[in-house]
This record gives sequence, structure tokens and C-alpha cells, in this order.
Amino acid sequence: MIDEFHGPVLVVVSHPDDIEAHCVGTVARLVARGEDVSYVLVTSGNRGTDDLSVSAERIAAHREEEQLAAARIVGVERVRFLRYNDSDLLFHMPQLREELTSIIRETKPRTIITHDPYPGNGSRDSCSIYPDHTTLGLMTFQAAYLCSPGPLFYPDQVKQGLAPHRVEMLYLIMSDAPDVFVDAEPVWDQRMNALRQHVSQGRDHPDMERFFRGIATQLGDKADCQLAEGFRKLPPT
Ligand SMILES: [Zn+2]
Repeated sequence: MIDEFHGPVLVVVSHPDDIEAHCVGTVARLVARGEDVSYVLVTSGNRGTDDLSVSAERIAAHREEEQLAAARIVGVERVRFLRYNDSDLLFHMPQLREELTSIIRETKPRTIITHDPYPGNGSRDSCSIYPDHTTLGLMTFQAAYLCSPGPLFYPDQVKQGLAPHRVEMLYLIMSDAPDVFVDAEPVWDQRMNALRQHVSQGRDHPDMERFFRGIATQLGDKADCQLAEGFRKLPPT
């Protein structure tokens, strides 16, 4: 239910198009309700091409433009790019956890939407397909619930004026076990329009509508609506 998502909301994902593939309908509804929603893109997908003639810098710049265009469609104005190397998050966990803690202390979200840290069952939509997803889910979980509220985690941040902050709830995308569903039908056209901005990833292909409608219909069956997005709710331990 959309009513249980409380702003400010921080959406923390690995790659451009993760938001639009999995939760942009929820974002659109929250923005329409007047909530403060901002994005953190941890990589810019700088390895996301098969084209031998394109440099990592160029594809990253292109994908950032696509992400900004998609954000504009749903009215999200603040998008932060951390520019870690695509697929390498596993090798940067300490730095990533510290940086995410700093961002959480600065932006003070009540709600975070991020990846499910559990690897899932290996199905097509499972997190296990891509290591960045599980790594980022785990680092965001730790930054939100363990580090941000604790003044002895990264005390230099606290000395510099970033007060400890307690996040109220995490909602996980790409989960094998979603238990919270948001009706995406009222914003479906906006949702698809945002997704289509990711041209470099083929998201503007005509078959995309049918593919994503199929996923949303399955989730909708669990939620008593036509088209839904699904999340696993992870409360503080
Ligand atoms: Zn991704």
C-alpha cells in the first residue's frame, strides 16, 4: 500500500534503469502525493554496452542523461551519481558503506528503497543475476540500520556536523518474496514513459510494454489490482 511509504524517501540503486524497471510507479505516486523523493545511482552503468567503439566514459555519460530524463518524467529533481565502476561494488564495500552512511545522515530519509541483499532463487528477475544488486542491498541495509544511527560509526562525519540518523523502513526491490504491493495502474503510462528513456538498454523496444505488463499483472494478482509493483519490507532489527 502506498500509504505506508513515508517521505523523505531515498531510492538507492546500482544502475540506471533499475528504478524504472522495478519501482518508478511507486515513486511517481509518492511525488504526486507531495513527498520528497531523491535518487542515488551508485554506478552509471559504465560497462553496459556491447559496442566496441564506445568508451566507458561515453556510455556512462549517456546513461546518466537517460536517468535524468527518466527522473524528470516523474518529477524527481535530485539525482546523485556516485560513479563506482559497474559490476565492481563487491570490491568497494567499506568505502561504499561509509559513503552511503554520509548520504543518509545528510538527507535524513524516513524510507529507503533499495535492492534485496538476499541472492534469491536464480530466476530471471532475481537479484542473484547481478552481483552489484546484492552487494548494494547489503551495504545500504548496514548503512541505514547499523551505521547511520550510531555515533561511533564514522565519527569524523558526526564531528563535521552530520548528525546520526535513524531510518524507519527499508523496502526492497527485485525480491523473491515481495510482501508489499503498490497499485501502478494509475501511473502506468508515466511508468512506461520513464522506462523508455533508457534507449541504450533497449528499453524503448515495443516488446518492453508486454514484458513489464506481464510482471506487473502477476504482482497485481497478489494485491487485488490490475498492475502492481512489489517490495519486500525489511524493518529495523
Ligand atoms: Zn541493475
